[in-house]
Amino acid sequence: MNLQADVCIVGGGPAGTLLGHLLAKNGVSTIIIERSAGVNRQFRGEHINAETEAILKEHQLFKRIEDLGILKMKKVEYFSGKNMVKSISPGVHEDHVGIHVPQAHLLSAIIQESEGNNNFQLLFDTTVKELIQDEQGIYTGVKAIQNGEEITISSKVTIGADGRYSTVRKLAKIPTIEMTHGYDVLWAKIPAPKGWEPTTRMVLVNGHQLALFTQTGGFIQIGWNIAEGSFPSLRKGSLQPYLEPLIESFPELEVSVNEHLQSWNNFVCLKVQSSRCETWVEDGLILIGDAAHTMTPTGAIGINCGMKDAHILAPILTNVLTENNILSEHLKIFEMNRRNEIKSQQIMQIKQETSFSQKFVG
Ligand SMILES: Cc1cc2nc3c(=O)[nH]c(=O)nc-3n(C[C@H](O)[C@H](O)[C@H](O)COP(=O)(O)OP(=O)(O)OC[C@H]3O[C@@H](n4cnc5c(N)ncnc54)[C@H](O)[C@@H]3O)c2cc1C
Repeated sequence: MNLQADVCIVGGGPAGTLLGHLLAKNGVSTIIIERSAGVNRQFRGEHINAETEAILKEHQLFKRIEDLGILKMKKVEYFSGKNMVKSISPGVHEDHVGIHVPQAHLLSAIIQESEGNNNFQLLFDTTVKELIQDEQGIYTGVKAIQNGEEITISSKVTIGADGRYSTVRKLAKIPTIEMTHGYDVLWAKIPAPKGWEPTTRMVLVNGHQLALFTQTGGFIQIGWNIAEGSFPSLRKGSLQPYLEPLIESFPELEVSVNEHLQSWNNFVCLKVQSSRCETWVEDGLILIGDAAHTMTPTGAIGINCGMKDAHILAPILTNVLTENNILSEHLKIFEMNRRNEIKSQQIMQIKQETSFSQKFVG
């Protein structure tokens, strides 16, 4: 099968899906290819901040997401052991300090808003395998596998929005600087007890650093910082040293913890790293979101950075295509617009990680 579009986006995560929606709205024909079968993905970031909320509102997407289900956080609280030492409430004119949006709701709402626009096409179960270049080396599309069959998509610009392990980035041989941060995060999810307030809780207890995120649907997502690379050896030992500090700080979680966290199989380990590509653009090719710059979990800003990339890139790309200037010198304006902010945010993440314990001083 041969398909054609102005833009082919590889990866239908938050960054790729929003970009596809905005381009199609601007009259740019866009095909998104996504290797998953639908919007339910492996657990990813699901807390968005005020800036992402504003972007979604500006593009009239927020209401539909809200209708599918979100949960506004009332406070961020810091606990030293059992004691709450600090509490941050929403500022004047704000009604939350972060919002939990299940990724399936975020993606479904954007896809639903794109329905009926002939410029928007999303192909699930489709995995990129190869980038196509013309004789001058300009990227002109991709080859992908869909249900075991090879398909070719010809495009004027190809976008790599395929996440932290980006195949597009590897195929284009774009070097990336990867940094580890000395820790990984173990994630687990339990039902919240009755009366549990929708609050984000950061905890320092017996030398353990934990974060508890209240979620839509009555759940709590819990993250434990563990030493980098230590999960394989931790798994060989008992779970108890990780559950006890949690129950010590929040005795009301004991029943739910004991019922739902009975084995290491209930945990997912996130390898914490950050990265920045040396270049985000080549002739006819752009990387966005985690593919261009992976963020650490600190501050939960990964989705925000990816969606802001899409928001900034959509008008730039629409102009560039109108003027048929798809060489890297014209696409570079996007990278110049975003690179410094991303770099500052990564520096801020490192500062926050090194001063984590200071937040627990009352
Ligand atoms: C466990 C965890 C918790 C996190 N918590 C938060 C949080 O609370 N808040 C926050 O803002 N960020 C958080 N993040 C980070 C956030 O999830 C990412 O920054 C964000 O999802 C990046 O969006 P993206 O669209 O660039 O990439 P992704 O969300 O990674 O999307 C990439 C898409 O590309 C698809 N894909 C990959 N390879 C191919 C291929 N070869 N062909 C076709 N499709 C392909 C994938 O299936 C995926 O759908 C978290 C991340 C993880 C892993």
